[in-house]
Amino acid sequence: MSDRLVLLGTKGGPAIRPGGPSPTSMLLDLGGRRIVVDCGLGVSRGLVEAGMKLSELDLIFITHLHSDHVLELGPLIHTAWTTGLAKRVAVYGPQGTKALWQGFLASLSYDIATRIADEGRPDLEGLVSVYEYGPGHVFADGGLTVTALRVDHPPVTDCFALKIEGEGRSVVFSSDTAYFPPLADFARCADILVHEAMLPEGIESIVARTGNGARLREHLIASHTLAADAGRIATAAGVKRLALNHLIPADDPAFTESHWRIALAETFSGELLVGRDGLVIPL
Ligand SMILES: [Zn+2]
Ligand SMILES: [Zn+2]
Repeated sequence: MSDRLVLLGTKGGPAIRPGGPSPTSMLLDLGGRRIVVDCGLGVSRGLVEAGMKLSELDLIFITHLHSDHVLELGPLIHTAWTTGLAKRVAVYGPQGTKALWQGFLASLSYDIATRIADEGRPDLEGLVSVYEYGPGHVFADGGLTVTALRVDHPPVTDCFALKIEGEGRSVVFSSDTAYFPPLADFARCADILVHEAMLPEGIESIVARTGNGARLREHLIASHTLAADAGRIATAAGVKRLALNHLIPADDPAFTESHWRIALAETFSGELLVGRDGLVIPL
């Protein structure tokens, strides 16, 4: 398995539309580990389409508990289980992740008990370990380390950028955040920075299509990063490659890849990858 990053779902926000991209999820294959970052709707399908057997599920990191990042966590693990998962899966998420997993198990208790009794499957709960993390050290095993930085995503306080290092490489994920200059230090010289991004001219189109106008506009501006500012973070960090994901807007045909490139032209001159579902980025 070669080291690579796959953007599985690249749209910001929980809504899905015909033919459009899925909410946030990513796969990082690094040093033989399968690392899933965020589990928005569509993550199971995205992993399969990226060539991963769900029974190989290994490590999952959740950046925060907004539904567009965690809605399919339980269904992913359950689907892996019904696909033959036999080894342990470790889930790392902010405070509340254990309750989310327990709630999922409770909601599927009939199905899980039935499959254990009828199909002889192993106990699902026993296959999964959930760890809740805060800022700083999150994970270390066999040369792979994961570190978290609390970012600025009101009203969510437990929202973390993640730095995953191994095999002499580092990949940094911004998670959802407003423009947050400390991210540049955190991402210093990473091989890839995956940063969320929003087009200013796209905000009005989203507000018009989604309804809930003024409040939604307020949330987007207070809690997310304009594309040009994502470029500023990448330049300050000295990263060679910037991948934009959690795109706002992501499924409006009026906005194309060239809009994103133009938005970053002034602030980032390295290699720019505009996210789309299924984009494979070799490391
Ligand atoms: Zn989000
Ligand atoms: Zn969020």
